[in-house]
Amino acid sequence: MSLLPSNKTRSYFVHSLVGAYGLLKKIRIINPKPANKNDLTIFHSEDYIDFLLNAENQEFKEKLGKEKYEKKMNEYGLEDDCQIFKGIKKYCLLVAGSTLTAAHELISKTSDIVINWDGGRHHAMAQKASGFCYVNDIVLGMFKLSRHYKKIMYIDLDIHHCNGVEEAFYYTSKVLSLSIHRYDIGFFPGTGDIKSIGFGRGIYHTINIPLLPGLKKSTLMQIYERVILPAKERYNPQAVVIQCGGDGLIGDPLVHKNDFGNGWNLDLNSYWCCVNNILNWNIPTMILGGGGYSNTNVACLDAYITAKIINEELDSNIPEHHLFPYYKPDFTLYEYVGKMADKNIEEMVKENYKIPIENDSHTIENELEDNSNDNIKHYKRVTKSVPYLEHIIKEIEKNISKIEI
Ligand SMILES: [Zn+2]
Repeated sequence: MSLLPSNKTRSYFVHSLVGAYGLLKKIRIINPKPANKNDLTIFHSEDYIDFLLNAENQEFKEKLGKEKYEKKMNEYGLEDDCQIFKGIKKYCLLVAGSTLTAAHELISKTSDIVINWDGGRHHAMAQKASGFCYVNDIVLGMFKLSRHYKKIMYIDLDIHHCNGVEEAFYYTSKVLSLSIHRYDIGFFPGTGDIKSIGFGRGIYHTINIPLLPGLKKSTLMQIYERVILPAKERYNPQAVVIQCGGDGLIGDPLVHKNDFGNGWNLDLNSYWCCVNNILNWNIPTMILGGGGYSNTNVACLDAYITAKIINEELDSNIPEHHLFPYYKPDFTLYEYVGKMADKNIEEMVKENYKIPIENDSHTIENELEDNSNDNIKHYKRVTKSVPYLEHIIKEIEKNISKIEI
C-alpha cells in the first residue's frame, strides 16, 4: 500500500505508529484477500480495468503501440496526479481487496467495527482514475454490504468531495451519501454543490455540505448535530461507512500548498468526536482512510482514532520506533491548535425574503407584486445577513425532511 505515489510510505508510517503504541496486540488483525478482476468490474468498466491492470506490462505496451497506449492513458485519466507506477496492479487489487475483506467481516458479524486505513479512495470513477485514486474500494465495499444491508449511510470527512462515490449512488436510495468538503472555484474536484441531491429514486439521498476554509471542531460538531444526526434518524441505516481522510488537519501540506488559508482547522480530537458520535449509534461501521499528505500527521490521526475506539489513551510522546526521527521537532502526537478564522461562521451571506404586506399597507414603497400567484398579493422584500453555515444548513434541513422513510 505504501507504493501509492501521492502517499508514498504513508501506510508504513501509519501501521508502524499503531504498532509502536502497542495497539496491534489489542485489536484483531485480518489478512486482506486481494481482489480479482471480476471484483473490480462490479463497479468499474471492463476496458478500464483491463488497461489499468496491464498498464505497467512492457509487452502489453508494445503490443498496443505508443500512440494508442498514450491515447488510452489520457482516456482513463492515467496522467498528471494518476500516473502509472511500479506495482500498480498489486496495489489496486490489494486496496480493493482490503475493503472487500472488511465488508465481509461486517456481513459475517465477526466484527461490528472494521478499520482499513489504506482504503477510502473516493475519487476513482467507474471508467477512469481521478485525484490519486485508481479503484474505488469504497463503492466496491458498499456494493458488497448492500447485498446484506438494505440501507447504508456513507459519511465522508475528507476535505475533498467524494465525486466517485457520489457518481455510483446518485440514482439509488440504498445508500445515503453525505459529504462535508471544501467547495470553491479551482478546489479539486469541483463537484459537491449543495444543489446536487440525487436524482430519480436517489433524490434527497445525496447530501452535500460545501464548506469554506477554516472549519473548526465546534463547527464540525454543529454539522453533526444539525445534519449528520438528523439525516441518520430520518434514514435509519443498517450499516455505516466513514471515510476519514486526514487532509482537513490544520497545515496539510497538499491543501495548503498554494495558499495557507485554503484548508481546515481540525485536530485529532475534532475527527474523533465526530467518529465517536457515529460509533455511538451502535450500527455496524466500517472506517476507512483517504486523503492526508503528511505521513506523520496522518499516522498520528489514525493511531489516535484506533486507540480511542478500544478505549486506550495514548501517551502524547511518540514511542521509540524506527520512524521516530521523522516526528521532529517535538516528537509528540500532532497537537497543533489551528488559529485560522472559521469562515463558515464568520462570513455573512445575504438572504432575501418576501414578506406579505398586510391589508391596507400596500402603499409601502417597497411593495412588489408576485405574479406567480393568481391571487395577486403584495410583498415587500427584506434582506437579512446570516452566517454562511446557517445559510447552508437551512437549505439542507429542508431536504433531510424529504428523505423517504
Ligand atoms: Zn482529500
